[in-house]
Amino acid sequence: MDNNKAGQEKSADIELPDDGLSAAKLFSAGEGLTYNDFIILPGYIDFVADQVDLVSPLTKKITLKVPLVSSPMDTVTESDMAIAMALSGGIGIIHHNCTPEYQASEVHKVKKYKHGFIRDPVVFSPNHTVRDVLNVKAEHGFCGVPITESGKIGGKLVGIVTSRDIDFLEDSPSQQNLKLETIMTKLENLVTAKSGVTLQEANLILEKSKKGKLPIVNDKGELVSLMARTDLKKNRSYPNASKDENKQLLVGAAIGTRSTDRERLKLLAAAGVDVIVLDSSQGNSVFQIEMIKYIKAEYPELQIVAGNVVTTMQAKSLIEAGADGLRVGMGCGSICITQEVMAVGRPQATAVYKVSEYARKFGVPVIADGGIQSLGHIIKALSLGASTVMMGSLLAGTSEAPGEYFFSDGVRLKKYRGMGSLEAMNKKDAKGSAMDRYFHNEMDKMKVAQGVSGSIVDKGSVLKFLPYLQCGIKHGCQDIGAKSLSILRSLTYSGELKFERRTPSAQQEGNVHGLFSYEKRLY
Ligand code: IMP
Repeated sequence: MDNNKAGQEKSADIELPDDGLSAAKLFSAGEGLTYNDFIILPGYIDFVADQVDLVSPLTKKITLKVPLVSSPMDTVTESDMAIAMALSGGIGIIHHNCTPEYQASEVHKVKKYKHGFIRDPVVFSPNHTVRDVLNVKAEHGFCGVPITESGKIGGKLVGIVTSRDIDFLEDSPSQQNLKLETIMTKLENLVTAKSGVTLQEANLILEKSKKGKLPIVNDKGELVSLMARTDLKKNRSYPNASKDENKQLLVGAAIGTRSTDRERLKLLAAAGVDVIVLDSSQGNSVFQIEMIKYIKAEYPELQIVAGNVVTTMQAKSLIEAGADGLRVGMGCGSICITQEVMAVGRPQATAVYKVSEYARKFGVPVIADGGIQSLGHIIKALSLGASTVMMGSLLAGTSEAPGEYFFSDGVRLKKYRGMGSLEAMNKKDAKGSAMDRYFHNEMDKMKVAQGVSGSIVDKGSVLKFLPYLQCGIKHGCQDIGAKSLSILRSLTYSGELKFERRTPSAQQEGNVHGLFSYEKRLY
């Protein structure tokens, strides 16, 4: 016992030897490092992971409860992804490889989203037939179809067709030609709710009426949305949801810096966008500085994320111009060939550390954009001073990402492509095309691709994937000994958070090795 005590006194007297490097030292050698090149040393745990607070700023004025952002890419973020991101506490940035009208309508869908309400249900007119409803049933597996005069959402509601109305008609081909007006449940026998009804009130009406579907109508009797009993059970609450002061979901949108983008901006602002991301692979340009000044003068309420930047010199210009946040990354994206083609860029860990360390002096938060291959990379980016992390490939392939699934060798895939890929730049479809992120315009004689086009395995819903990421970040912070992301950043800058370089064999050791096969599922 005495021996022990003597030992303790001794250890208290001995100064702790240097163990690991501060972030400043790690990045002082002048080499460009990326996430795999280093590891974070563990700290002291005196709290449970669930207590870790992930609140973090996206811009000077917008704070998120979960530091995750979906990239403005046409195979990653449209309204479905942006809604899922915001419900989960992050934010989605709607891409601009489309007409301004299409982009603004996607922003509008996010702003008008009401959890639990179906915004774009299948709607028919009284002149559609039983066969049309059966086709919907075969394709989507449901058959509660509201009937409006115009056959569209927004038309005057006149009835509804549910499985009960068509059950006995399925087997008789002659009856399949019957017009819906002859078999639908007419308006006078319908239970409806007025728009503005809350989710709880609508739930109660559905429960009491024992109906399967609840059409929501406005004062003029026009169909606004639909609620389904089957969805009731699925309705989870999203306590972390990112919302504005009107309780609408937060959403961002990307634009370029051409004069035509001012028109685009006008539509986006009218649709209620919260943050504008100036989308350029090299953001330190006179065009971007002019655009920041223009937005600040014309739309002072809009937050601006400028970029992309990877050096403090680039950051300085954009901060001086008035940026409310910076997007950091050049050449690190999974689909990116910028560093190979242009010979310009910077390894991502160095870029994130250097820019964050500079920008924090002006209260400008940094988004670490691209190169995030795993949960561990997110924790590393946040440990280097980034306030939030932007992802492309990690979110592509989910059910909320735009595009249809397809099969190749029996594997279910979705397309994922760089916005500077030839395919994205040459895109011509109903959504339109407008990629100028890579400075291709009428004056360019030839397009030089800075990205590639590929595919990614089906990942299921982002609504399941994001809670996994969120929980993992909390565990990472716990191992580090940081009870919040702001504590994490202060540990980084005080030098208390320790890092170490990893040799190639250390990197191998840190990954699965020596197994013949293993289960790759992570959550
Ligand atoms: P990922 O998360 O590693 O897939 O990277 C996504 C990021 O790559 C985006 O947020 C953009 O910053 C960047 N990016 C998107 N398209 C291209 C491209 O075609 N070339 C280079 N970088 C791109």
